[in-house]
Amino acid sequence: MAMFKDFDLHADILRGVEKLGFEKPTEIQKEAIPYLLESDQDLIALAQTGTGKTAAFGLPLLQKIGSKESDVQAIILCPTRELCMQLAKDLESYSKFMDRFNILAVYGGTDISKQIKSLRGSIHIVVGTPGRTLDLIKRRKLNLQAVKFVVFDEADEMLSMGFKDDMDAILEATPEEKQTLLFSATMPAEIAKMTKRYMRNPKEISIGHKNSGTKNVEHHYYDVPGRKKYEALKRIADINPLIYGIVFCRTRAETKDIAERLGNDGYSSDAIHGDLSQSQRDSVMQRFRGKQIQLLVATDVAARGIDVDSLTHVINYNLPDELATYTHRSGRTGRANNEGVSIILLSGRDRSKLRGIEKKIGQQVIKQQIPSGKQVVKAQLDKLIDRLEKAEVNENELQEYLPEILQRLNVYSKEDIIKQFISLEFNRFLQYYKNSDDINSKGSSRDRDRGRGDDGGRGDGYRTGPRKRYSRFYINLGEKSKVNPQKLLAVINKFTPEHSIEVGKIEILSAFSFFEVDETQANVINSAFKDAKFGNADIVVKPVAASKSKESRGSRGRDRNRGRGGRRSERGPRKPHRGKGNSSRRR
Ligand code: ADP
Ligand code: MG
Repeated sequence: MAMFKDFDLHADILRGVEKLGFEKPTEIQKEAIPYLLESDQDLIALAQTGTGKTAAFGLPLLQKIGSKESDVQAIILCPTRELCMQLAKDLESYSKFMDRFNILAVYGGTDISKQIKSLRGSIHIVVGTPGRTLDLIKRRKLNLQAVKFVVFDEADEMLSMGFKDDMDAILEATPEEKQTLLFSATMPAEIAKMTKRYMRNPKEISIGHKNSGTKNVEHHYYDVPGRKKYEALKRIADINPLIYGIVFCRTRAETKDIAERLGNDGYSSDAIHGDLSQSQRDSVMQRFRGKQIQLLVATDVAARGIDVDSLTHVINYNLPDELATYTHRSGRTGRANNEGVSIILLSGRDRSKLRGIEKKIGQQVIKQQIPSGKQVVKAQLDKLIDRLEKAEVNENELQEYLPEILQRLNVYSKEDIIKQFISLEFNRFLQYYKNSDDINSKGSSRDRDRGRGDDGGRGDGYRTGPRKRYSRFYINLGEKSKVNPQKLLAVINKFTPEHSIEVGKIEILSAFSFFEVDETQANVINSAFKDAKFGNADIVVKPVAASKSKESRGSRGRDRNRGRGGRRSERGPRKPHRGKGNSSRRR
C-alpha cells in the first residue's frame, strides 16, 4: 500500500490531504492509519519528530469522530504552546473539506477567559498543554466526560518537562472507555511505566530502531579546541551560505552570548531561552519561521516545540548531558523527507560522549575538517555568482538608465567591473579570512592560508617589454578620497578623453597618489587637469621626479585581457588598495 487513497479514508479527508501536497504516506502513517481505522485498541507509537505523526493519528481520529455530537470527543496533549497551535492548524487543514469540525487549542501564557468563552460553544477536539488543560478542567470549564480518544503527543517531552502529575490528573477526568494513543520519539522508563498503568493491551508500533536518529540526518563532528568554537561556528555558517538552523547551547548565558556575537558579526541570528516573555518568544519564532533569522541559538528547554520543517542544520555547540537530548536536537532537522545535518563541535570532555551517541542513533558520526579561510571564501563567492546569475533583469525598466551607466562604466574592462562588483559585496569576507588559521584540533595538516588573496602567485607571466620611459605625476587623491588604482585610471581617462594614455606604475597613498605615464604623453597630463574636479574638490596634478623603482619598469607591454577600454590593473600579489608594483596601460 503506497498511496493515501488506498486507505479507507473518506473522500473529503483525502481531498484535504491532497490539498496539502502529501502524496505518499510516511512509514508511521502506513502503519498507524489502517490500524487506527480498524481497531479501538490502545496504541504506542515510537517515531522521531518529523516523521508525520500528526497525520498518523489525526486522519483516523477525524474520520472516527462525529461532528454531529456537541461534546469534546478527543483531547490531544502536547508539550508546548507552539505544538498545540501547529497541531490544531494541521487538523484544520486535514478537515478542510469535511463537515464543520470545531478544534480548539488551549495553552498557557495567554488570556484564559477567551479559551473559556470558546469552550462554551461546541468543540469537538481540544488540543492542549497539560498545565492549561488541567487548569480548565479544575475550573469546570472543560468537560472530558464524553471523550473517546486521548492522545499524548511527544509524551517523552511532556514527562521530561515535569508534566507527569498533570497528565495523570487529566486522565482521571476522562471516562474508562476510550482509546489512548501515545506518541513518543524515545521510550524512557517513565513512559514504559505510564503505558503499563494507563493503557490496556496496547499495540506497539516502532519506526526504525527504537530511539534511532532520523534516517535522512547525517551526523558530523568537528574536533575543535574549546576557545576556537565560536570561530568554527562562523566558518561552518560561512561555508554553508544557505544555512538555516538551530545552534544548541547549554545555558541561557551562553545562548545570549553566542547570538549576540553572531549578530555583531553580521549574521541574522537571535536567541531563544527561558528569560524571554511569551511575546518576545513569539516574535523570535515568527522571524525564524519567516527565515529572517538564519541561525537560532537556543537552550534545549526553549527549543521544545520548535517544529520548522526545512532546517538544514542543527549545531551542537556543546553536547547535552543526556543522550536522549541529542536525539531530540538532531530530530529538529531532516524533517518531512528533507535532508539535514547534525553538527557537533567537539572538544574537551564531550569527546567521551561520542561513542554513546553513535550507539544511540545507530549511525556513525563522521569526522569533518573545519574549512580553511580559502574554502569559505570560495563557497561564498560561489553563492554570490549564483545570485548574480539568477538575478532577474528588468529590461524595460532598466532601459531608461542603462545608456548613462554604460557610458560611465565604459572606461573599465570587464575584469575590472567584476572585481569592483565582487569587492562591493565581499570585502568583509576577504578581510576576515585574510590571515585565518587552521583551527582543527591539533590537526597534522598545517595547511595555513597565508592570506595572499586570490591573486597569489600570479606574478609569473610578467615579461620585459620594450623599454619605455615614463614621467611621474603627483595627484591629490588617495585612499582618503576612496581612490584605488581603477578609480585613478578612470579619473585619468575622464580628463583625457581625446587621448589614449599609457599609464605605468600607480602608487596610492593615503592623502595623495603617484602615477606614471608614457613620457611622450606627459604634456597631455600637464594640461588635462586644469579645471578638473573630483566630487567638489579641485584635482591637483603635478609632475614629480621619476621613480627609481626598477619594479615599475619591467612590467608592461602585455596586452592580454584588454577589453573595451584596454585596461589592466591589479597585477601580482599585493595588499588591497596599494598601487605598489601596479602596472596599467591604456591604448
Ligand atoms: P512529527 O509529529 O512526527 O514531528 P509532523 O506530523 O509534524 O511530524 O510532520 C512533519 C512535517 O511533514 C509536516 O510539515 C507535515 O506537513 C509533513 N508531512 C507529514 N506527512 C507527510 C506526507 N505523507 N508527505 C509529505 N509531507 C508530510
Ligand atoms: Mg508532532
